[in-house]
Amino acid sequence: MGEILYGKGVVPGIGIARAKVLSGDLSSHLAAYKAGSPAEEAAMLTAAVEEAAAEILRLKETALSAGEQAQADIMDAHYAMVNDPGLSASMFGRVAQAVSAPQAALAAAEEYAALFDAMPDPYLRERAADVRDIGRRLVRLLLGTGKTEYGQEPVIVCAQEIEPSTAAGMPADRVRGILLGQGSTTSHTVIIAKARGIPAVTGLGDALEHIAAGMLVVVDGGTGQVLLDPDPALLAEYQAKAEAEEERKRQDSAMAALTAVTADGRKVQLAANVGSPADMPAALAQGAEGVGLFRSEFLFMGRDVPPTEEEQFAAYKEVAEQCGGQLCVIRTMDIGGDKPLHYLNISKEENPFLGWRAIRISLERPDLFMPQLKAILRAGVYGKVAIMLPMVISAAEIRSARQWVQKAAGELAQEGKRFAAAVPLGIMVETPAAAVIARDLASECDFFSIGTNDLVQYTLAVDRGNQAVGALYSHFHPAVLRLIAGVAKAGHDQGIWVGMCGEMAGDPLAAPLLTAMGFDELSMSAPSIPRVKEVIRKIRLEESRELLDKALALTDAGDVRALMQEFNSPV
Ligand code: PEP
Ligand code: MG
Repeated sequence: MGEILYGKGVVPGIGIARAKVLSGDLSSHLAAYKAGSPAEEAAMLTAAVEEAAAEILRLKETALSAGEQAQADIMDAHYAMVNDPGLSASMFGRVAQAVSAPQAALAAAEEYAALFDAMPDPYLRERAADVRDIGRRLVRLLLGTGKTEYGQEPVIVCAQEIEPSTAAGMPADRVRGILLGQGSTTSHTVIIAKARGIPAVTGLGDALEHIAAGMLVVVDGGTGQVLLDPDPALLAEYQAKAEAEEERKRQDSAMAALTAVTADGRKVQLAANVGSPADMPAALAQGAEGVGLFRSEFLFMGRDVPPTEEEQFAAYKEVAEQCGGQLCVIRTMDIGGDKPLHYLNISKEENPFLGWRAIRISLERPDLFMPQLKAILRAGVYGKVAIMLPMVISAAEIRSARQWVQKAAGELAQEGKRFAAAVPLGIMVETPAAAVIARDLASECDFFSIGTNDLVQYTLAVDRGNQAVGALYSHFHPAVLRLIAGVAKAGHDQGIWVGMCGEMAGDPLAAPLLTAMGFDELSMSAPSIPRVKEVIRKIRLEESRELLDKALALTDAGDVRALMQEFNSPV
């Protein structure tokens, strides 16, 4: 009674319900399976592959009709995997050697998954779970074992690892929390949980075995704490927190119509970060004033060839139109790092985050860059758009990009296509190099948007995806704060607007500091907008400037955070 487990909170929120433990153990069914002749097993396997592909397509359709684009993309990837010729040859090869169809599917999927497990890139490593998922789906179909049943009562789902398709099939109204032994913030299951707002904690490891089916569990996705069979007083405390959260969500919707203006009248534009047109309804519902970061690389993922100029144009046009006169900042593709593209054939890199990525690829691959620039310029006819370059480290990169933009405009003119002639060109300031020479870069471009996700990792030499050094990763580190303050000043001194689109922009604790630094725009994931707006509406510029002076004089990230917590506590 009363045990507390500590994991990593990856989707904030409080969930209270009884545990549903997913074991994923197929061994007893496998042991009871009576295999037929190799020809019969091959026929069973063929039917199972077809049925699995059909199931995956149905899941994709369900995701699309629920507006869950990220999940639909995952199902697209599964569809490609289940039809993968290599996987197929490996499964049918085993069946020909008298291995039963389910055993062959499991072994072949495991062999593939092991290849992903061994990859240095954390994003690719996460794909091992997807391949195992395909194997289990095939085995379930072959053995006739059913899907996970959730019943009518709310549950907290617990498992070492949850296959993305299992996550996709979870009823959002009944699954109140997800607890994982494994999994990082980039795992697909976590992406799905985030999209659905299901509180989630990962990294619980073997401690997960302390949870028995039916046990009352409280999940705190903000702190990573998991309470097992809490005593009545603690339970009541968390129930009150959960109710307060519900109340907050109601207030958030009311906040959407208000502007982000300080108590003494300084306006800050709060925009949304989006990855596709499907993200726009949520952004507008939270009161986003335009888009501060359209991560265009998502249009390039989950497919075998790059999107054409027309396909990109359609997506950019839709988002630009939905911005309704507000600016839509389209970042040119930020491929590489943790977002590889198999069809680009990027050779294996020891340090992909320091490698061939983002603007470096674009400038060397006009076949990719030109269609993208042309699509953006054309979208500019239908709304206010801007082009933003990722991972810039030099003025020369901006100048070259500008030449490509001019060339794109020239080609469009020759082709007789309509396009916007004066599209602003800005950069992400997300490398220490760009931050240090911000003054020089400001005279080459029209705006800055600080990407703290990368700026923090490069400044502190702390991998943004590595849980082992996660405690060192903080946007409140004085080195980061001082760089950011310098960039804002450099931009303003040169007369350009300065925004921020990294996660720091959506941190309510950071909002007073960023307002005091004079940020013109903060762009964040849509659910963060109301909370940041609420803080901005309560502060006065003078007091936030005093706070900034204090913060800039501190030497420890923890002290800055504590200062901000103290300041924000009554909010
Ligand atoms: C950033 O680095 O802060 C950023 C917004 O870009 P991404 O997270 O896509 O690298
Ligand atoms: Mg970045």
